[in-house]
Amino acid sequence: MSLVEQALSCVRAISPYQPGKPITELAREMGIPVERIVKLASNENPLGMSPKARLAVATAIGGVERYPDQFELIAKVAARCAVASNQVVLGNGSNDVLDMIARVFLAAGRSAIFAQHAFAVYPLATQSTGAELICVPAKDFGHDLDAMLAAIRPDTRIVWIANPNNPTGNFLPYAEVRAFLQRVPTDVVVVLDEAYNEYIPPEARVDTAAWISEFPNLVVCRTLSKIYGLAGLRIGYALASPVVADLMNRVRQPFNVNNLALAGALAALDDDEFLQASYDLNRRGMAQLVAALEKLGLTYIPSYGNFVTFKAGDGAAVNQKLLQQGVIVRPIGGYGMPEWLRVTIGTEAENARFIEALEKAL
Ligand SMILES: *Cc1c(COP(=O)(O)O)cnc(C)c1O
Repeated sequence: MSLVEQALSCVRAISPYQPGKPITELAREMGIPVERIVKLASNENPLGMSPKARLAVATAIGGVERYPDQFELIAKVAARCAVASNQVVLGNGSNDVLDMIARVFLAAGRSAIFAQHAFAVYPLATQSTGAELICVPAKDFGHDLDAMLAAIRPDTRIVWIANPNNPTGNFLPYAEVRAFLQRVPTDVVVVLDEAYNEYIPPEARVDTAAWISEFPNLVVCRTLSKIYGLAGLRIGYALASPVVADLMNRVRQPFNVNNLALAGALAALDDDEFLQASYDLNRRGMAQLVAALEKLGLTYIPSYGNFVTFKAGDGAAVNQKLLQQGVIVRPIGGYGMPEWLRVTIGTEAENARFIEALEKAL
């Protein structure tokens, strides 16, 4: 038998994650100098990282011969989120905590529910365990919570929800999420992935961590990859009931978060000024991009994240013409939306480069 045949059938069924095209790859392919390339494909922070975090990371280099100690960052996250330390699980990116939740609750013979057009990591995490994936059709490109509730079967162990969702940017009002939690069986885990939480306007934001004592089956996931600008360091976290957090820690690799990420995250979480500047830049950039899309007569999905998804027609063709001009956005054919492209909000100049290239591409 071939090695492929020997592999688990659930693994063979996985379609690999397609990351945004790296700048260096486009430079190699098209012979465009790296500094002429604008990457608006992975929802990274165009301001980079907090200067305080940069300094903390540089300092932490001095201690990399030692295994990492998560104590301090766990305490900081717990204090900021007003939960106990035994309710915080750190991940090597929030991807890592999503994977831990899947490994704790899923296996062959069980199922997990996610929404059409929702984040690609939910299918990956689910399928790698051998569990069955139930995809519930979207409503206006977002989660249809009533339909997701109705889809729950006796073997369902996890419902994945991204709020705001990536790649569509849809936002579920918190009252709807709460009503959903009140109706979900208490032995089904609801994962509320809030990777873009800090981009939600403060008046629409709710402290979901406070819900965990009421709903012990709720797991809230957040990341430092997006507004905090630490995507390359890989650090995220889950907030859960002590029981669920304890289970997750059993499958967590003991040293899953490295020293530099721990130090960077500790400093980043304290830099409110950088957070506010990033938020403000995103609001302005969103207005800039949306105005341009409207001027071009393009349909877009109103977004609560740091990106906006618009209908380009032939998404692959428009994407190719953008690449030729050194602009990388994200085609989302893999999400069942081949006519759409997702663009990350960049700096004002990056957004302008994108708009100019898009006008030519259309
Ligand atoms: C970017 C993103 C994440 C975060 O991934 P990391 O592993 O923390 O970098 C999680 N969920 C969604 C919906 C995202 O878009």
